[in-house]
Formats: sequence, C-alpha cells, structure tokens
Amino acid sequence: MSFSLAIVGRPNVGKSTLFNRLVGKRLALVDDQPGVTRDLREGEARLSDLRFTVIDTAGLENETDDSLPARMRRLTERAVEEADICLFLIDARAGILPDDEVFAEILRRRAGHVILAANKAEGSAADGGVIEAYSLGLGEPIRLSAEHGQGLDELYQVLLPLSDGFEARAAEEAPETNVAVPEEIDEDDDSVPMPTSTKPLQVAVVGRPNAGKSTLVNKILGEERLLTGPEAGITRDAISVRMDWGGVPMRIFDTAGMRRRAKVQEKLEKLSVSDGIRAVKFAEVVVVLLDAAIPFEVQDLKIADLAEREGRAVVVAVNKWDAEDHKQDKLRELREAFERLLPQLRGAPLVTVSARTGKGLDRLQAAVMQAYTVWNRRVSTGQLNRWLDSMVQRHPPPAPQGRRIKLRYMTQAKTRPPGFVVMCSHPDKLPESYSRFLVNGLREDFDMPGTPIRLTMRGQG
Ligand code: GDP
Ligand code: GDP
Repeated sequence: MSFSLAIVGRPNVGKSTLFNRLVGKRLALVDDQPGVTRDLREGEARLSDLRFTVIDTAGLENETDDSLPARMRRLTERAVEEADICLFLIDARAGILPDDEVFAEILRRRAGHVILAANKAEGSAADGGVIEAYSLGLGEPIRLSAEHGQGLDELYQVLLPLSDGFEARAAEEAPETNVAVPEEIDEDDDSVPMPTSTKPLQVAVVGRPNAGKSTLVNKILGEERLLTGPEAGITRDAISVRMDWGGVPMRIFDTAGMRRRAKVQEKLEKLSVSDGIRAVKFAEVVVVLLDAAIPFEVQDLKIADLAEREGRAVVVAVNKWDAEDHKQDKLRELREAFERLLPQLRGAPLVTVSARTGKGLDRLQAAVMQAYTVWNRRVSTGQLNRWLDSMVQRHPPPAPQGRRIKLRYMTQAKTRPPGFVVMCSHPDKLPESYSRFLVNGLREDFDMPGTPIRLTMRGQG
C-alpha cells in the first residue's frame, strides 16, 4: 500500500519543479473530459524504493491580487484534506513572506503530517531563508533544491518512517482518516488578535553574549514545566521554545540556542554573527536583555535600534538584578540612560529581572503582553481627526513663504506597528520636528508606549 503526498506552498516556490522531479514522465491518468477542471494534478512518484501518489497544487495562482487568492487557499485546504502527508515548500532565496505564513497557519491547524522544506537551497545564498523557515512553527526544514535534485535523500529519510505507518494502517483495513477542517482566516478582523492556541505569540530574547538569555529562557521553561507537568505543551528545538507563558501560547526564539546550532553546522557559521538580527525579524515582541552590571553597551543599543526600525514591539529587561546593591539609585540611572540613549523607544517598558532566581519574570510576561497589545492598537479615524485638530490648534504647522501648511485629514493605515497617514499640503515642506511632535502626541494621547509609530505625510494630488 502506499500514501499520498500533497506539495503545497505559495506560487513560485518550486512546487511544479519538484512534482516533475518526483514524477518524471509517470504522470497519472488524466481525466481529459472537457469541462472538468482538474485543479489538483496527480502523479505517481518514485523516491528510491518508495512509491506514492503526489498531488501538485501549482498552476492556479496567476491572479493579480496581492494577497493569496482565495482559490489557491481553498485548493490547498482541499489538498490538505485529501493527502496523507503535506510537503510545505518555501523559497529559501526569497525568505519567509506573508503568504507563507498564511499557508503555515492552514497547515498548523491541521493535525496531520507536515514536512517543511526550504527549496532553492542550493548554495549559501539560501542560508538565511532556511533559518527563517524555523519561524513558521513547523519544525526543522529540509534543505531542498528541486531544480538540482538536492536534498531528496533527506526527504526520503523523513518520508520513510511515515510511509511505514501508512502501510501498517492500510493492513488494518483503512481506518477513517481524521482530518480537521481548517477554519476560515478572517483578514478583516481588526479586533486585537490575541494569540490563539494555533498561533503562538512570537517573542525574541536578544542581547549581548552573557547577558543571560539562555538562563532566562530556561528559567521560564522550567517554571512553566512545574506548572503544567513534564513536557506538557512544551516543545523545544535548537532555535525556539514553544510553550505557554502565563497561560499565553508563545514561541520564544532563543538566540543563544541559535548560536549553539550554528556551531554544530559549520555551514551556518556566518549566521551566528547575525543571530540577533534574524531573531528580531522573526519576532512580534523583542525582549532586549541587558546585563545590569554593564547596561546599554553599543551592542545593546544597536539591537534595540534595529528592533525599532524593524517595527517590533520592544521590552527592555535588565537582568542579574539579584546582584545589584543600590537598587533604587541604579533604577533611576537606568531610566535616565534609557531615555537619553534610546529616545526612539520612548515609553517602552523597562523591567528588572533575575533570570537566576526567577524574580520579576511575571512582570516581564505582563510587559510583553502589554507591548503586544499596544503594537496591535487601532485608533478610529474620527478620534484621530479630532485629535489632529486639537494638535494643530495647540501648535500650528509652520508657514514657509507665508503660506501655512494645512494638515487636512488623518487615518490609521496599519497596525503591528501602528502606522498613520496625514494628508496635507506641501508635505515636503513640513519639518521633521513637527512630525516628531505629532508622533510623541500620538504616543501619549492614545497610550502607545513601547511600540514604534510610523507617520507618513502625504500630499493630495
Ligand atoms: P510553483 O509555482 O511553486 O510551481 O514553482 P515552479 O516550479 O514553477 O518554480 C518557480 C521558479 O523557481 C522556476 O523558475 C523554477 O525554475 C525555479 N526553481 C524551482 N526549484 C528551484 C531550485 O531548487 N533552485 C532554484 N534556484 N530555482 C528553482
Ligand atoms: P547568554 O550568553 O546571554 O545566553 O548568557 P547565559 O544565560 O549563558 O548567562 C551568562 C552568565 O550570566 C552565566 O554565568 C549565568 O549564570 C549568569 N547569569 C544569568 N542570569 C543571571 C542572573 O539573573 N543573575 C546572576 N547573578 N547571574 C546570571
């Protein structure tokens, strides 16, 4: 007996190329009846001594819409239901794109066998994308090159034990397959998207070597384990820990773990340098972990600034607080240094912790949740325009050459992080300082500490 494997993924990741490689010329009988749309292509695949049916979902995606076409999504959901195993392809050269996340979500919701493969992985240009693929929460990616036939032996190694399972099952006279129907994903839902059990909040802990990152992640892990019993709901790979922290599903990227992994795999050596940078890109919330004895070193400032520029919610945690003596004075100093050295993160939570004793970890969890909520905040257009009027009255924009710049209208264009657009006359003439005045006002009046705020001035043409 044999099994079926569906190749899924967004357009252009190489699904057809892989299909053709697995199937060669052995295409299955095609139902050529006119009028029948044959949207799932099937073929008989051979991989060493394995024989199976492979289902290709490619070829339907050429619709002009930016977002993943609904048809493509439906098709994938059907393939997921029909197939025993899903092979999810991403393009390691392109890295993880929003559409990849949509597929990952569909696949995570389905309790079945999912194999993640990073395609186009020939050569080192793909290393970054391979690492990024971990962020999808579907385990370790196989490095594949459909075009060059690389990584097929690894695919075989992964399929082999699974195929045994299907053969055994077939012998017991095909039990019913139990497939969860994926829920619709509502893109227009703008309530604060608190993570659900299928979509953990992505947190990265970054900081200089020896700041205590591993100790912190392990402490959180240890405490949760005490609460939930051994291993319950907790899975760990070299790069991330998936667990419930304070009852909230999270995936915590452990950059120290990434470093260890990079050491093991020589090819990834270069990546170890930039592991913090990569973790920032994965994350929704970035915890910048400082060592209380040597806080705000250049490296700390750089990574915090990067998190801001990448638009992540940021929490600053000062570690090794157990070793500090004059805590009150120290805290005042830290706050002062924070404001002076990281003005772009104004209002971000500053939490003192001890990764060693566990003190302060509940406050850290609360700060992470708060930063995440603010990052998702949406302000209504009505509120914004009333606010804009009052700001303009308090402090009118300048009037270069005697002509006052008019700020006409304002709306929130996006969340995660919050982004606003102001329609105005002569946007190019509005000084930077006025934009800062607006951003700081937004932050205070709408209670948005600890999140980057984007403000765009746009002319009306
Ligand atoms: P699909 O839309 O997912 O079916 O993607 P295709 O199989 O049509 O491939 C999209 C493009 O990626 C084509 O130009 C392929 O030649 C190219 N491609 C596919 N696999 C690889 C690979 O392993 N390495 C590289 N560099 N390119 C590939
Ligand atoms: P990483 O390189 O950022 O992962 O740092 P580690 O977790 O390996 O910690 C570096 C060193 O700092 C180790 O010797 C830890 O025992 C120590 N350390 C970590 N957290 C604390 C803490 O909260 N208090 C004290 N006193 N030492 C700590």
